[in-house]
Amino acid sequence: MKKTRFFIGLDDTDAPDMMCTTWLGTLLADLLGKAGMKVLSARLVRLNPTIPHKTRGNAAISLCILGDPEYAFILACDLVERYSALSCDNTNPGVVACIEKPPSAFYLKAVQGHCHIDEAISLLSRHAVHFRGYKLGRGLIGATAAISSVFPDHTWEYLAYRQADRLHLPREVDAESLRHSEELTTPHTWDTWDYDLKGPVCIPHTQDPVLYGIRGDSPFMVAKAASVVRSEPAGMERIWMTNQGTDAHLVPYDHGLMHEGISYLVRGIVKEIPVTGKGGHVSFPLERSGHLIPCMAFEPTKKFRDIVRSLRPGDEILAAGSYLKNTLNLEKIYVFSAEPFLYIQAPLCQACQKRMTSAGSGKGYKCRRCGVRKAEHEVIKEQRSISPGWYEVPPGARRNLSRPSVRGYVKH
Ligand code: ATP
Repeated sequence: MKKTRFFIGLDDTDAPDMMCTTWLGTLLADLLGKAGMKVLSARLVRLNPTIPHKTRGNAAISLCILGDPEYAFILACDLVERYSALSCDNTNPGVVACIEKPPSAFYLKAVQGHCHIDEAISLLSRHAVHFRGYKLGRGLIGATAAISSVFPDHTWEYLAYRQADRLHLPREVDAESLRHSEELTTPHTWDTWDYDLKGPVCIPHTQDPVLYGIRGDSPFMVAKAASVVRSEPAGMERIWMTNQGTDAHLVPYDHGLMHEGISYLVRGIVKEIPVTGKGGHVSFPLERSGHLIPCMAFEPTKKFRDIVRSLRPGDEILAAGSYLKNTLNLEKIYVFSAEPFLYIQAPLCQACQKRMTSAGSGKGYKCRRCGVRKAEHEVIKEQRSISPGWYEVPPGARRNLSRPSVRGYVKH
C-alpha cells in the first residue's frame, strides 16, 4: 500500500440520547490501525460553545494518518452511515479528507465566531481530496475546522468508551477510584472530582458511549490517572490532543458593540453592587470604554456566585464569558484591586440603637423613636472578603474550552 500523510475530519454524528463523534473517531482510528495505517495524531477540537444547534459540547475530531486516504474516506463514510444518528433532525454529519490542512483562519472563526456552510464548502473545493455532507451537511463546518486547527496551547483527554451491549445499563465507575486518580495526578489532571460536591464530574449523565474522561496536561498523566480507575470494562479507549482548557474561544474586548454568541475577555470597572435575582442568578454592570455590560453568574456556578456577590463598585476586574441575550455569562474573573469599600448610611441613634431616617431634603436625620436629630450621615468602611486573583466556576459548571486555574494563568 502506498502511504500518504493525510487528515480526516468528522462532525455532527450524534443525537442527545445516542452516539458521540469522538466514539466514531476512535472506532475509525482503531480500524485504520488494523488495516495497516498509522494514526499519527488524534484531535478532539471544541468549537464555539454558543452554537445553538450543538448537541452537547460542540466537539469535532480530526485524525492525522499515514496510509491510504481513499480507503480511509470510504471507511469513515461507511461508519457514519452505519452509526450516526441520521434519524435525528439535528444530526447533519460531515466527513472530510485532506492531504494539506486548509488555512487555520477557518478554525479560528469556528472556535470564536460563526461560520456558514458555504465557506466550508468553498474551502473544501480547493483543499479537500474528498468530502461528503449528509442531510444539511452542517457537520462539514466542524470537520473542516478540526482539520484546519492549530493549537497555540493544548491539553489532553483520555476517553474510555462503553461496550455496546452495556449502553442501556447504568454506568459502573467507582467514585472513590476517581477521587484517588485525581489526588494521584493533580495538578497535572483536573475536572475528575469536585471537592465541594464530593463527587466525580468526569462521567457523562447522558446516554452516550462515553464511560468517563480524564483531562490533563500530558498523555502520560491522563493515562496514569486512568490506570487507577475501577470501572466496568471499557469497549474502546483513546487519548486525544485537544484545545479544551485553553481559552481558545475568548476574544479580547476593547470597545464597541458586543456580538451575540461571541465569548469575550473584558477588562472593566464594576459599576454597581451585584444583586441576586430570580433563580439565584447574580448580576452586575461592568463598565468598559463607556459601555455598560450586564454580567451574570448563573445558579449552576454555585459558590462562584459568592465571589461575584462580594464585588463592589470601583473594583477593576477581567471578566471572561459568552455574550448571550445581551449578558456576559461569567466563566471566571480576575480581580485586579479590591480596595476597602466606602458607603454612607443613616447615623445610629445612640440612645435607641436604631438607625435614624431622613428628616426631609437637606434636613439631616431624625430618630423616629426619641426624636433626636443629627445632621451628618455615617461613612462606613467595608472590609473586603475578596482579594486580587483569579476566581472560577466549579469543575461541574466549567466550559470545555475554559482554562482551569490549576493550569496557571497567562498574565493580563
Ligand atoms: P457531536 O458529538 O456530534 O460532535 P456536538 O455537541 O459536538 O455533538 P454537533 O452535533 O456536532 O454538536 O453540532 C454542532 C454543529 O454546529 C455541527 O454541525 C458543526 O459543524 C456546527 N458548528 C460548529 N461550530 C460552528 C460555528 N462556529 N459556526 C457554525 N456552525 C458551527
